[in-house]
Amino acid sequence: MSDQSHQIWVAPEGCIGCRMCERACPCGAMHVIDKQATIDYSRCISCGMCATKCPKHVIHDTLGIFAKS
Ligand code: SF4
Ligand code: SF4
Repeated sequence: MSDQSHQIWVAPEGCIGCRMCERACPCGAMHVIDKQATIDYSRCISCGMCATKCPKHVIHDTLGIFAKS
């Protein structure tokens, strides 16, 4: 992940561990462990798919394109 201005992140609270984001990720970058989704930034391409699928809206992106911050 080289473009730090457009980064996806998961809020530290609110994730229910449904794994919708994990299934949506085309890069295998999203991992849900103990009801907390975390992003492997060495794989993430900031496509935003995870943010569009999260039913709890806890995945955000710095530019607010895929989910409201
Ligand atoms: S932004 Fe795209 S590549 Fe990055 S974790 Fe989400 S779905 Fe995967
Ligand atoms: S889609 Fe949202 S609520 Fe579900 S595991 Fe991912 S971050 Fe958590």
